[in-house]
Amino acid sequence: AKESGRGSLYFYNDEMRNSVAERLAMEKALHYALERDEFYLVYQPQVDGNGNILGFEALLRWHSKELGQVPPSRFIPIAEETGFIAELGQWVLDTACQQLKKWQEAGLPPLFKALAINISPSQFAKDSFVETIEQVIERTCIDPSLLDLEITEGMLVESISSVAAKMRSLKKQQVHFSIDDFGTGYSSLRYLQHLPLDQLKIDQSFVRDISHDPNSHVIINTIVSMARHMNLSVLAEGVEYVEEKNILTGIGCTRFQGYYFSRPVDVQSATNLLANASCL
Ligand code: C2E
Ligand code: CA
Ligand code: CA
Ligand code: CA
Repeated sequence: AKESGRGSLYFYNDEMRNSVAERLAMEKALHYALERDEFYLVYQPQVDGNGNILGFEALLRWHSKELGQVPPSRFIPIAEETGFIAELGQWVLDTACQQLKKWQEAGLPPLFKALAINISPSQFAKDSFVETIEQVIERTCIDPSLLDLEITEGMLVESISSVAAKMRSLKKQQVHFSIDDFGTGYSSLRYLQHLPLDQLKIDQSFVRDISHDPNSHVIINTIVSMARHMNLSVLAEGVEYVEEKNILTGIGCTRFQGYYFSRPVDVQSATNLLANASCL
């Protein structure tokens, strides 16, 4: 298909054509998904070394009428690019905080520390971000110290000082911040130096390799000891096997999240987990 002429305008291949069509379909479907109530949250436990629940991470799910179940890794980047993430992020905040309020009222287990919510870079970048969080706290009457906002390096499109200023005003109200996917970015160490963080989440790519790759072991070891010196908590993500948990424990990691402990679960199962933990 090296023909010149009219055909040559269509320089992309079938795969690319599919992905363009697919993307358009997804943009369109996303547009209606909120009003059609197609989004829901699942909750993945974060635990200590004995499996006690320290918190949950709220994770977004989309069941589209046209497209079926679409993973967040596919629709969130599109929502980011189209600006839809603003509305969607607000929905996640509202829904997660309303749920936290219910759990708070039912009585949380003694070790429960936080509900973690993912904040996208463009959500954080809004001038109104601090106000948005303050408003949801007020509206839902949650204990702000139970909120753990997960941010990523994508945040640094703004200057570090303005990112830090936003974080400090929320930290005055006891809101916590974790840095997500730690170690995968280019300027991770600059965060540590300048941002008022509470916790590092070690990316699952390091955890995945820990039992066979000495370098991953060294990297995690370094992250854990650095965090300890800076008075930050560390949580290891993507723990799938008991060997990984044991190695991480040996290194000094005390917080875990991953399939070995639990997959993300629906709200009813999460509520049951909390109820059972309270009885212990
Ligand atoms: P993330 O924030 O790094 O979330 C952790 C992802 O790892 C989740 O994927 C979770 O289901 C998965 N995971 C947990 N334990 C294991 C494990 O042991 N093994 C493996 N292989 N995976 C594990 P999920 O739910 O598909 O979310 C993917 C990404 O989408 C998230 O990565 C986050 O960046 C984004 N995301 C999800 N929900 C939201 C949201 O409400 N808002 C925003 N802005 N982003 C979200
Ligand atoms: Ca996260
Ligand atoms: Ca992560
Ligand atoms: Ca990730």
